[in-house]
Amino acid sequence: MQQQKQMQVKIDLSTLENVSCPDCGNFNFTPVLQMKWVPALVAPSGTLSILERPMFRQCTECKKLLDPQAMVEDRMRHPPVEPPRIITALGGKEN
Ligand SMILES: [Zn+2]
Repeated sequence: MQQQKQMQVKIDLSTLENVSCPDCGNFNFTPVLQMKWVPALVAPSGTLSILERPMFRQCTECKKLLDPQAMVEDRMRHPPVEPPRIITALGGKEN
């Protein structure tokens, strides 16, 4: 797996869009693991073990399973339509 660089930019989380459950609109999820048997021959410990991979998230309300990676790829293919911007009048001169 390719190592990802840590982001250096500080992000104000309050400005970011929440991910919501596409079925019920809930904002809360729990991680769901997939587990792999790792044979002793290839295990770092040298003994049979289990590798846990956090693959999915589960909606805490309707229990729908979500695949975050697939959601990112889907949004890159179909970006949401940008909501109309709110233009505030500042009382300045019009050009
Ligand atoms: Zn849900």
